[in-house]
Order: sequence, then structure tokens, then C-alpha cells
Amino acid sequence: MKENFAHTQVYKEQLYKLAYNVWTMWDYEALGLFREIDEDLFFRVGENPVGFLNKIAEEDLNKILSDKHFLARLEAIFNRYTEYEKKSNYFSKQMADRLVAYFSMEYGLHGSIPVYSGGLGILSGDHLKGASDLGIPIIGVGLFYRYGYFNQRINEGGMQEEFYEENKIGDLPIREVIDRENKPLRIEVNILGNSIQVQVLEANIGKVKLILLNTNISENPVEYRKITDYLYVADRDKRIQQEIVLGFGGYRALKAMGIKPTTYHLNEGHSAFIIIELLREYIKDSGCTFEEAVELVRKSTVFTTHTPVEAGNENFPTEMIEKYLKKDIENLGISFEDFVKLGTNREKEPFWLPALAIRFSCKVNGVSKLHAEVSREMWANLFPNRDVDEVPIQGITNGVHYSWLSSEFYELFVRYLGPEFILKLDAENLSHIFDIPDREIWKAHRMAKERLLRFLERKLKQRLESDILTVGYARRFATYKRATLLLEDKERLKRILCDNTRPIRIIFAGKAHPADQEGKEMIRTILQYAREHNLRDKVFFIENYDIAMARYLVQGVDVWLNNPLKPMEASGTSGMKAGINGVLNLSVPDGWWPECYNGKNGWAITAGEGVTNLQERNRAEAGQIYDLLEGAITVLYYTRNKEGLPVEWVSMMKESIYSVYKNFNIGRMLKDYVEKIYTP
Ligand SMILES: *Cc1c(COP(=O)(O)O)cnc(C)c1O
Repeated sequence: MKENFAHTQVYKEQLYKLAYNVWTMWDYEALGLFREIDEDLFFRVGENPVGFLNKIAEEDLNKILSDKHFLARLEAIFNRYTEYEKKSNYFSKQMADRLVAYFSMEYGLHGSIPVYSGGLGILSGDHLKGASDLGIPIIGVGLFYRYGYFNQRINEGGMQEEFYEENKIGDLPIREVIDRENKPLRIEVNILGNSIQVQVLEANIGKVKLILLNTNISENPVEYRKITDYLYVADRDKRIQQEIVLGFGGYRALKAMGIKPTTYHLNEGHSAFIIIELLREYIKDSGCTFEEAVELVRKSTVFTTHTPVEAGNENFPTEMIEKYLKKDIENLGISFEDFVKLGTNREKEPFWLPALAIRFSCKVNGVSKLHAEVSREMWANLFPNRDVDEVPIQGITNGVHYSWLSSEFYELFVRYLGPEFILKLDAENLSHIFDIPDREIWKAHRMAKERLLRFLERKLKQRLESDILTVGYARRFATYKRATLLLEDKERLKRILCDNTRPIRIIFAGKAHPADQEGKEMIRTILQYAREHNLRDKVFFIENYDIAMARYLVQGVDVWLNNPLKPMEASGTSGMKAGINGVLNLSVPDGWWPECYNGKNGWAITAGEGVTNLQERNRAEAGQIYDLLEGAITVLYYTRNKEGLPVEWVSMMKESIYSVYKNFNIGRMLKDYVEKIYTP
């Protein structure tokens, strides 16, 4: 009996270890293990293993822990996980003496860890997951938000309403960092003369750690506990306080943990205040002058910009920098006035965090080739002695982690490209995608589509037939993304959707920033269109877009539509996620798409190129989308052979999977970061 108990304890520990690593949230087999214990409960807790273990009844857990088959599977998965943890691979050698500290305001790791808002966060999350797979020594640093980003509800009138849910640390794969004396680690940050205590939390992302800073602890005055309440808080004072915590606090947390990075990678400008802290350390520690410290900081700092519109970049009026940072700056041995110049772009005001970051970085990159071009122009003022095309901002196009593959396509990849396909990024190995029989590709897609439709049916309380061409449009409702472009000619769109032989349905999803009235209006316009034109079985808006929903959509729709106003989309990654799942992109050639589109792997919306009048451009681009939907897209989709396969469509799916996976997987992106940013 006693022995039996000890035995059960060992397995229980394995289960908890798995639950406390985000690896489990992207490993299909490990996820399946938790699902098997209680599928219903697992679904209800958002497929979050820690939340699940907190909720499951003790006796139910003990029961499954006495099931031999279950234990055998648990042990096999746990062993594979242990192997994964130990294995050093791919970049281990190249990065042997390095350690990258990666700073980001948001991390999109899983639907149940709500410390992200959109694409920037997804990229940060995928960066860490990929670095873990490929053996890049890296540690992530971010903030733990009590409420994170908002949840979206659409009211009767079609207006977006925001509400927040509290994130409970105890229900997430996150733990508090303990110091050498076995006490919770605390970091101190000074804000307006007050000493703020910061709690340090950590999450395991495979082999990689992510540090999350939290001010919501009892040691702090109530006002300062709220600093880390909301992601992208609109209040500018709260925002700068968050960024002080991220920059100063992040550096100090690493130091307190005995971690000595060789490279500081600032992902977007939010963390740029770390530069002040780095300067201070160099001046204090090595007694160097300000100029010498600048050189040292520059050697170890790299910066990635994501925002092709100047106004969208993080900035503060000079008074705010003065109010919060004047003392810190003057301690560096530079006058406040001189320092402020390091954050300017074209004008004296405001203070741009990316400008500061660029001036203090040895390597700077944008997130696609086109975006790098736009960025060189935008920040050319920072390099007065150079021509625009010599501004040192490279393009490293984003990529996506393999966990965006549906389980069906993941299994097909394992079968046809080999179990280690994520380490075999070469064109030759990937060309085996063309060996996969058409019917297998189609079946994998059909299963992902069924899953999406069942998910939608639960939300909509409405039946959805599976064999209707389904177009997906899901992203933040920022104005430049033009969510309502498709509604340019409402009658024509209706005719297209309702065609008797080749019908189409469209699924919309996405959040508008709480302060963005125009974005909210777009949501209302879509819902109103569906209602007034009797298109409720054709045009859907699904509320509360998040990672979990994104997974259903990018895996399960047939066509992924993207029509931003070029060149305002820095990269875009949702189209990559769709593309590797054989979902065909129909997109304006903005961001990553011009680097991928080849005429066989999707469609490009080009009719607006060179048209400067916005209305005309909208009309031209919408017109081309209609033409494609009426023509090539529906014709290819609905033309079936004797077996019911759309042969030419499937051939395009293969082209899409091959070309998108080859150049836009996270491994390719990280290889570029290692070679062009981290190691030169
Ligand atoms: C991938 C993803 C994004 C980013 O997609 P874009 O193509 O940049 O719009 C945003 N939100 C979620 C939830 C995602 O999964």
C-alpha cells in the first residue's frame, strides 16, 4: 500500500512538472494526455494544464493515476520531455558563449496566459518557443498583468464592450522566483521618489525561461500595485511607469538572479529605458565616462522595430521624461537637455523610445524586407551622414512556430518530413511535402475545418454546413487593416456570397482598441450588414478573438483574407499560420506576402498599386477581391474530381505549405537573428 502510494507520487510529480512547462501546451501528445483525464473540464479551463490540475477532484486524479495504460503514456511523454530539456542542438555551438536577454511588452504563449494583445506578442512567444527548440540561450523579460488585455463582448446594438478578468498566477504555469535566502525575490524600482517593490515571476517555455515582473504585491502602496494592471494602458503616466519597471526592473531582476546576458534584445521600443540603467551600471562599475559607456551599451544592445507609422511608435513629451527620469539621467554625467536629443527624430519633440533604442544599438532590424525599407526612411534623420538606403536597418522577416500547425498537418509532417522536421529546414527535406497524397492533404484540412465549424456552432448556436467555401478575416481592428473593405460594394458581395452553385461564407473576428472609435464602428458595420441584408448564415462576427480562436481559424478556413493599406502592415504572421496549414492567402502584397507570393500559392491583391486616391484604391482593391472570389477562387474550390477532391486547389495548398513553411518558419527567422543580429 505504502509503496503504491510512493509510486503514485512519482507519477503525480511528473504530471505537475509537465503542467508547469508551457512546452506541454504546444506538444499535441502531452496535451492529449491531459485531455484524456477529463475532456470536458480540460476544455472549460481553456486547455490549461495547471488550471486543470487545480480544478480536478483528488479522487478523479488518483483514479487515472492507477490506470496502467495512462501511466505508460505519461512516462513515455515525460521521458521525451526530459530528453528535450537535455538536448542541445542546432545553435548551441554558434551561441555557446552568449546569452540573449529578450525584452518585450507582451508575450503570446497560449490562450490561457493573457499577457498579450496581438502580433507583437505572438512573435515574442514564438521567438522563445523556437529558441527553446533550437538551443538558443535566451531569457525573456516582460510584465505580468493582473488583467492583461480586455475581453470583447458585442452588445445588441453591435457595439464592442470591454470587460476584464483577473489573471490568477496560481492557475497558470508561472511561479514566484525565490532568492538565495529562500525568500520571494524582490527588486526595487524608483518611481517619482518612491521605492516600488517588484515581484519576479518565471515561466518555463521548454528550455527557456520567461521572467515576468509584477507590482501587485502588498508591500506597495495601492496606487503603485496598479502599475502592472493593464497591457497597453492608455494613461500615459501608468504607461511610462510600466516601461520603467520593464527596463530598470528587468535589468535588476536578471542581475539579482545571477544572470549575465551578453546581448540585450529590445523587441520594440517599450523597454528602451534599460539603456539608462545599462549606462549607469557601466559608469558606476567600471568607472568609465559617459562616452565610453555609450560604446559599451551599443556593443551589447540590439533592437527590433515593428511599427511602420511614426505616430504608432512609443513616445512621451519631454516633460514626462523629465518628471520621471531627470535624476537618473543627470547621474550619468550628461545634461538632461543633451540626453533628450538622443530620443528625437525629425523634431525637438516628442521623445521617441525607438529613436533612443536605435541610437544605442549595434544592430537594428525591421520585420520584413518592405518594412525595413520603410523604417530606413522613417529613421533616416538619426543618421544624418548617410543616404536613406544606407541607414543600418536590416529586414528580418518574421516566422511562425510549428505549434500553429493543426495536429493533422503536424502528423503529416512527421510522417513525410521526419520526426525532427523542425531542425531540418532545408528545401530538399521540405520538398517531401509534394509527396503527400492529395487525399491526405484534403483530409487533414477537412478535419481542421470540421473542428472550426463545431467551435463556431457552439458560439453561434447555429448549424454550419461544411462544404461551403469559408473565408477568414481575423486580426486587430486597426483602421489601416480595413476590415470593411470587403463591404465596399454591398450588393455585389451579397450576390457573390449567395451564389447557388458556388456559395461563400465569411468569418470575421478581432478586437478594436478601447479608445479606437473607428475600429469599433467597423465591427458594427459588419454586423449591421449581415442583419440588414439577411446574411446571418453567410457573414459572421465571432467575439473575443484570441490565440485559441486564432488556432481554429488559421487551421480551418479555406481562404485567409488580408487587405491592409500597404505599406502599413510591418510583417503580419496570421497569413503564415494559415499558409502552413494549406489555407490559401488572398492578400495585399504588404509585409511578408511579397516575399512569398509566387502566383501558385495564393492570390495577391494588386489593383490598388500606384492609386493614390484612397477611395479609388479601395474600390480597385475590393473590385479585384470580388473578381477573384467569383472567378478563380470559387472555380478551383468547387471543381471536384471523381473522388470529390478539388485537385487544383489541393495543388495550391501544397505550394502554399511548401513555400510558406520553407521561408517563414521560426527556425529560419532565428537563424537570421543568430547570424545577422546576435553573433556578428
Ligand atoms: C497571429 C495573431 C495575430 C497577428 O496576426 P496579424 O497577421 O499580424 O494580424 C494577432 N492576434 C492573434 C490572436 C494571433 O494569433
